[in-house]
Amino acid sequence: MLRRQSSRESAARTYARSLPIVPVRARGLTIEGADGRRYLDCLSGAGSLALGHNHPVVLEAIRGVLDSGAPLHVLDLATPVKDAFTSELFATLPPGLADSARIQFCGPAGTDAVEAALKLVRTATGRDGLLAFSGAYHGMTAGALAVSGGAHSARVTRLPYPQDYRCPFGTGGEQGARLAARWTESLLDDPKSGVSTPAGMIVEPVQGEGGVIPAPDGWLRRMREITADRGIPLIADEVQTGVGRTGAFWAVEHSGVVPDVMVLSKAIGGSLPLAVIVYREELDTWRPGAHAGTFRGNQLAMAAGTATLKYVRENGLAERAAQLGERMTAQLRGLGDEYERIGDVRGRGLMIGVEFVDPGVGRDGAGAGDGTGDGGGGDGSVDGGPIEDGRPIQDGGSVEDGARPHPADPVLAAAVQRECLRRGLIVELGGRHAGVVRLLPPLTISDEQAEAVLDRLADAVAAADAAIQRPHRGSTKQ
Ligand code: PMP
Repeated sequence: MLRRQSSRESAARTYARSLPIVPVRARGLTIEGADGRRYLDCLSGAGSLALGHNHPVVLEAIRGVLDSGAPLHVLDLATPVKDAFTSELFATLPPGLADSARIQFCGPAGTDAVEAALKLVRTATGRDGLLAFSGAYHGMTAGALAVSGGAHSARVTRLPYPQDYRCPFGTGGEQGARLAARWTESLLDDPKSGVSTPAGMIVEPVQGEGGVIPAPDGWLRRMREITADRGIPLIADEVQTGVGRTGAFWAVEHSGVVPDVMVLSKAIGGSLPLAVIVYREELDTWRPGAHAGTFRGNQLAMAAGTATLKYVRENGLAERAAQLGERMTAQLRGLGDEYERIGDVRGRGLMIGVEFVDPGVGRDGAGAGDGTGDGGGGDGSVDGGPIEDGRPIQDGGSVEDGARPHPADPVLAAAVQRECLRRGLIVELGGRHAGVVRLLPPLTISDEQAEAVLDRLADAVAAADAAIQRPHRGSTKQ
């Protein structure tokens, strides 16, 4: 089957390349391959399985619709299944948005909802330009791609997203976040900046594909103030961060920010395709049919989604994600202390990243940022920053002279992913340079399962580290 797949499917296939398995059964955290091997799945359908595979409440909800004789596909007509989904979703929204929210059912993927959000704010403001951030990922359709970090578009102004480890200003911490906000403000207020008032700003509260980078709460609040003061709608892309993943039901709740538009997909469909935007009613200036699509009425996805949202809410799974995520991240930081090749461990809730670096490439700037073979990625986050010699520090303060983080090591990260797979653990890769091993376990993962995940990951790191013959240095890292 794998041979047939590689001879028949597109060269653009992604996960199938690094995960040569044929899943035939799955439950919770576990996937069983056609070869009988079992895997702990910390990829979770790219973060879409809040309750893991085939959770009983999800299966029951799907069976309920199938057995009821209800139509499975009804465009955007009203149905009891859709009505229940909307009520459940609205009950979870941040107060301040819930009171006067509109919902728009979009085509089924996250990228469809991003397109709808961009078009909505353009329609409502009559303006065209957009603000987006370095390292962002919003999808693969043209508009969503244009606001993602790897793209260039005349209509999109790229702003710095604060991050400690590879801070574009070389400071990290609060100072880095302050400088990032200041840059945004000055672009908007300088009449000669070349940036006219945009139609909206789109931001991920935690960058996922960009390498698991949580936005500092204070910075996100500042983005809210800056946009509100200038009448710019703020779009929060919660496609990956939503439904408890980061330790709050919606990741914007950590900062208390109420966006004007929220883009939701992945977990809201309870493992089936579903995407919506919810937004303040003042923005609802569309003409009828201004944004349509055939597949906006997936009843099974709405039923599975309702069951998922309700289960996460009733069982406090966001709180559980916060606590367990903190423990797992702390343990991984311990692992990071043992290996010089682990440059950083970060995350929020059960969205966790471990960045692998190459200490063999100079940190004096000569090789930094281009040891990945991708020419530096072009997002400006490593090379070309205004401060040449700044080693980011974690919690504010001064710049440590003459040092900067080692370049990312995507080869090692891929080796760790392979070693994980050999040990029956499925992990995701991400980050600007694909040097970040990502964990997105279901929110239902037990303490014992979390231990098993961390044990396998630690063994995989040891094996990959040994294989590239760079000695395990013991606890020598600061
Ligand atoms: N936004 C974010 C933040 C995402 O993480 C993704 C998918 N990884 C998307 C949008 C696009 O979603 P989809 O792949 O369903 O189009």
